[in-house]
Amino acid sequence: MKVINTFVLICLVSVSAMAQVKPTHVEPPFWWVGMKNSELQVMLHGPDIGNLQPEFSYPGVTVKEIVKMDNPNYLVLNLTISSEAKAGAFKVTLKEGKKVKYAFNYELKTRTSDKNRNLGFNSSDVIYLLMPDRFANGNPANDNVKGMLEGTDRSKPNGRHGGDIKGLSDRLDYIKELGMTAVWLTPTFENDMTPQYGAYHGYAATDLYAMDRRFGSNEEFNGLVQKCHDMGLKVIMDMIHNHVGDQHWWMKDMPTKDWVHDVKEYGMTNYRGVVQSDPYASKYDMDKLVKGWFVPSMPDLDQRNPVLATYLIQNSIWWVEYSGVDGIRMDTYVYPYKEYLARWVKEVLDAYPNFNIVGEAWVEEVAHESYWQMHAPKTDGHNTNLPSLTDFQIMFALDPGLRENTGWKEGLSRLYYAVSQDRLYSDPMKNVIFLDNHDTERFFTRMNQNPDLFKMGYGYILTTRGIPQVYYGTELMWANDDVQGDARKRKDMPGGWAEDARSVFTKEGRTPQELDAFEYVAKLTNWRKTATAIHSGKMLHFIPENNTYVYFRYTDKEAVMVVMNRNAEKVTIKRDRFKEILDAYTTGVHALDGSTINVTADFEVGPMQTAIYDLKK
Ligand code: CA
Repeated sequence: MKVINTFVLICLVSVSAMAQVKPTHVEPPFWWVGMKNSELQVMLHGPDIGNLQPEFSYPGVTVKEIVKMDNPNYLVLNLTISSEAKAGAFKVTLKEGKKVKYAFNYELKTRTSDKNRNLGFNSSDVIYLLMPDRFANGNPANDNVKGMLEGTDRSKPNGRHGGDIKGLSDRLDYIKELGMTAVWLTPTFENDMTPQYGAYHGYAATDLYAMDRRFGSNEEFNGLVQKCHDMGLKVIMDMIHNHVGDQHWWMKDMPTKDWVHDVKEYGMTNYRGVVQSDPYASKYDMDKLVKGWFVPSMPDLDQRNPVLATYLIQNSIWWVEYSGVDGIRMDTYVYPYKEYLARWVKEVLDAYPNFNIVGEAWVEEVAHESYWQMHAPKTDGHNTNLPSLTDFQIMFALDPGLRENTGWKEGLSRLYYAVSQDRLYSDPMKNVIFLDNHDTERFFTRMNQNPDLFKMGYGYILTTRGIPQVYYGTELMWANDDVQGDARKRKDMPGGWAEDARSVFTKEGRTPQELDAFEYVAKLTNWRKTATAIHSGKMLHFIPENNTYVYFRYTDKEAVMVVMNRNAEKVTIKRDRFKEILDAYTTGVHALDGSTINVTADFEVGPMQTAIYDLKK
């Protein structure tokens, strides 16, 4: 009897234990009631879960479809959440016959009513781009996380350096002091990659629903967004739908055969984004661009798979809703299927109409760049739906533009020609413009470390049309570092680590050159906050003459005059050439020092500078 009793007890314990087994992955991990789209796709992953029958009961939630994948370890539930559904949690069981094999609770949350979130960004903003691993280490306790493949080692330029969300959160005052109004962090998703790939940059996601624990928790990220909002800073989240890291959990147990492109067949991409907008493109080149891998450690996702496409779109919406971020910067925008990305943008913006998205469109020539903006004229009929793009053409025009003397095509004429093609964009004011970013050589290096050219460039980027973006370290006029690889443009911020000998976050910790740059950048960027003619005014420019480029930003009520003098000597500005604007004004107040000029007569502008004047009646 006793033996039998024990046997019964063991059976009860094991059945009970079985009933508590949760799937290895349930994604999204939770959702909300009252979302714009009433459909929800839940991906379940666990041994043999694909052959089980799901059961649950919750008012307002119904199963629309159950999708089986090639791999029996996956099951996909397509649910409909009616507008009557209330927030709450319900138990889902997965049964084989009458036997419960898996069970988990699924929660539908209430959406936040806070209006100070999902704000979007526009040309009144200046975006500060930083790499969290390189900015500040606020929590040394997360430098090495047990079970993760790479720890922190600052002696390795391409290793992880320990910067994190806490470090950034503690340094927001510095970003505010500079006059920035938005922060773009390079990706903070889990990148649990093997050390040789140097995945501190965040572009090799291994879990799209989790922050990398070396940066902090999901809750810490939400806290950062909240703190930014409280301080009047917007947050732009970096996402990547072209690829994931090869250590992503999908790669160890692929959902379907077509989840990623076959690297044996397509190899690496040709990196030629222009193929997508080229009317003569070959299928060979297009396949190579879209289906080739970005690098061997980043499997290339095939968004033609409908489950994957919906997974990625929901993942974006989940983060937007969960964290309250104000915008998304989508990486490698010209590499995936453009039809997929057009659907992605539309669904995100349908759900969050005030939101903004900028796509990284790193291509040559204005005509290829403009193709990626929504409603671009003269396309092949494809509409990307994308509001903003990274305007690489402005960066290309500045270099070599500022290094050369002005000629018919050279020097400042390059800036003139670049924006004079703006009819190819549907809304060039939404272009994100920049001197440099985490992938390019630092602007100061490209300007042969000439501080005058550096300042001329910064003055230009803050006053021409578009949304300026400033890469961390640029405010300190940093040149490339003397190390190998991408780390040369991704130096740690001195003072972000307790052991650092100096801190650039304080005035005393800056070198004389850094101090000079910081003050210039802070003054101009803070001035721009109030310069509404630059936020929303029209542009009017004049053909560069005498190595000088003059343009205006103006509305019916106000105007800003910008004079870029590339000469080693002062120039005299003949005011009659500009009277179509200047006739309405008497003086110009210099944006940097407040000094005034009389614009009813000819006036002088000093050598090698971008002089910016608020015009007064
Ligand atoms: Ca840390």
